[in-house]
Amino acid sequence: MRQENSIPIEPDPVARIDAEARLHGARIATRCSVCGRWLVAPKTRAAHAGPKCQKGGVK
Ligand SMILES: [Zn+2]
Repeated sequence: MRQENSIPIEPDPVARIDAEARLHGARIATRCSVCGRWLVAPKTRAAHAGPKCQKGGVK
């Protein structure tokens, strides 16, 4: 099920902090659990895995 017209459901625990950080020109990042890179995009950040690592499937 998708709901995109109302409030986006973002399972991102740091979304609020990030929103505040961005006001100060900063960003919140989490580390990719696969390659250790820093992730700042909300989706990848919440997943703790970059786009390539999510597809690559190194478990
Ligand atoms: Zn990665």
